[in-house]
Amino acid sequence: MASCDRREFLTSVAAGVAASTINAGAAPLEGGQAAAAAKASAPAGGLAPLAFTPLPLGAIRPTGWLLRQLRIQADGLSGHLDEFWPDVGESQWFGGKAEGWERAPYWLDGAIPLAWILNDDPMKARITRYVDFIVSHQRPDGWYSPYPEDAVAKRYDLWAILLANKVLVQYHEATGDERALDAVVKSLKAILAGLDRTPLYGWGKFRWYEGLVSVHYVFERTREGWLLDLARKLRDQGVDFETLFKTDDIQRPTPRRGLWKWTKHVVNTAMAAKAAAMNWRLDRRPADKAFASAMIEMLDRAHGQVTGMFSGDECLAGRNPIQGTELCAVVEFMYSLEHLFAAFGDAAFADRLERVAFNALPATFAPDMWSHQYDQQVNQVQCTINPDHMWTTNGPESNLYGLEPNFGCCTSNMHQGWPKFAAHLWMRTPDEGLCAVAYAPSRVSFKARGVPVTVSLDTDYPFREQIAISVQADRPVAFPLVLRVPAWADGATVRVGSLPERRMSPGSLHRIDREWRGKVDIVVRFPMKATVTSRYNEAVAVERGPLVYALKIDETWTRVNADKPHRELPHGDFEVRPASPWNYGLVVDPARPEESVRFEERPVGEQPFSPQGAGVVGKAAGRKISTWKLAHGWAAEISPADVAWSDPSRAVTDEPDEPVTLIPYGCTNIRITEFPKLKPR
Ligand SMILES: [Zn+2]
Repeated sequence: MASCDRREFLTSVAAGVAASTINAGAAPLEGGQAAAAAKASAPAGGLAPLAFTPLPLGAIRPTGWLLRQLRIQADGLSGHLDEFWPDVGESQWFGGKAEGWERAPYWLDGAIPLAWILNDDPMKARITRYVDFIVSHQRPDGWYSPYPEDAVAKRYDLWAILLANKVLVQYHEATGDERALDAVVKSLKAILAGLDRTPLYGWGKFRWYEGLVSVHYVFERTREGWLLDLARKLRDQGVDFETLFKTDDIQRPTPRRGLWKWTKHVVNTAMAAKAAAMNWRLDRRPADKAFASAMIEMLDRAHGQVTGMFSGDECLAGRNPIQGTELCAVVEFMYSLEHLFAAFGDAAFADRLERVAFNALPATFAPDMWSHQYDQQVNQVQCTINPDHMWTTNGPESNLYGLEPNFGCCTSNMHQGWPKFAAHLWMRTPDEGLCAVAYAPSRVSFKARGVPVTVSLDTDYPFREQIAISVQADRPVAFPLVLRVPAWADGATVRVGSLPERRMSPGSLHRIDREWRGKVDIVVRFPMKATVTSRYNEAVAVERGPLVYALKIDETWTRVNADKPHRELPHGDFEVRPASPWNYGLVVDPARPEESVRFEERPVGEQPFSPQGAGVVGKAAGRKISTWKLAHGWAAEISPADVAWSDPSRAVTDEPDEPVTLIPYGCTNIRITEFPKLKPR
């Protein structure tokens, strides 16, 4: 998000900017009137059913390394931000005088699932107080307290309210507190009436589908037709991404110090990936189903990174591995993928979810999750304050590890990544069964045909190939267990109880239909073979299973900005510099990568995503490339001018082979991931 946001919001709501351009004369519909008017046009069909339905918050409990990771998060910034950072702790949403826009709702959006999944009582108590304040200070007209009293007569950007309602339905799901649901209903009625006076603009116009999260949630509980009218009105006033993605501009990388554009904003793009799913539920248009995948393919082609993300620092920035990807985009893309899988049931969306969750997400945090980056780079050898940076529109501190490098949006929005991932590991099938969407150690409780069932999943996946599942039913009961088989898992197998081992097709949803009695043990195996992929400027990257591997580089951390507000340890800012060489080409045979890189299992560390905690390491050979140097004193740019690997007439390097170590990308803080292609000797 850009620093202009909040200013623009405050200016426009406070001064009533452009009020004359809107239909301010229309009499506001009272909630009851709006509902009555809308009911007349209620569609018969309602929402299209989900392919798979997420379980209520708290039904899935993390175990093993995932529990450690969530505990690290709750003991780090996520569990403490409200205690010292005014933009959350003293938010206008909670009666304070600090920021009153997106930051407190953003924090709640991750803090709520984190606290309820971990059953963290102190966090839950604080969150309950904050939500109580929001709900009890909602005005009778349905507007929340940070919005000005006379909001009905003035122009306002709805984004923060769309976000707050998304947060409150999550709280309702976690607690069953009806006041939260009532507040959302009142707010949605105010929005329905308000949209006629002030059509969506700004952030709300680009993020209209975020509003559909709460609209769909309420509709599924009340079946009131005005909600679908509201959903369509938000969509019709919002940006049509299918049309936007037909333009050439969206495919062009934003140049260095280029023009900031709403249309190429990376967080808008990551959020918008779910628009097709929300839309499809309204009208069942096959085009929406097709666009869901087409949008991601287009982003991959033009801006794709090996981590499963696309670049944006902060506007879409092409495939160069030195461009950045904003943390907000990482967590929002994960949430979009969770929606896409639920709506369409396409295994590829869950493959992508794991790829982002196990690579891009953990890499952009310090292992203790007290500091984070605004922008991560796939080739990131140095994180320093650098005015000569090469970002498109971000500032000199964007790849620092810190409290609020560049801008505080990620500081408030980063929290949803792991908890929502944990909450979507399993989903219900339409026929009383259970689907394993993504794999991480966990335990899920649900009822199948009224019978209590507990399913436990034991594994160190993604650092191991084997997954042990046990299904325990209180009484014999028939239901399907559906296993997602990753597209990369050639030779995947499953063994149920004492039955013979069976093959599963990569990229499919493998269905086990049976009656479950007592405790049944299942062993799943997803063989992980190394692959070498060709990337930007012919660079090579090593992947194995859901993990991307990167060069392990020794690090020097230096504290900076100690005099800035709120940077007391442990939430300080840090520069990171390499303390060992990084300018290697990797000696790999793309046809036989397993002969080039030898993978060894290690115990998964207390900090699962740290250089020393890496659960797998790869041993390979590298060759130093003396011509490969930092560009702009900062980034390890691979360009044909620096390294002539694409020119067969020039030897890239005469250096001897030397051993190098690769570790999972998510375990690194600085790294080389896309290696220059070496000219064969
Ligand atoms: Zn951000």
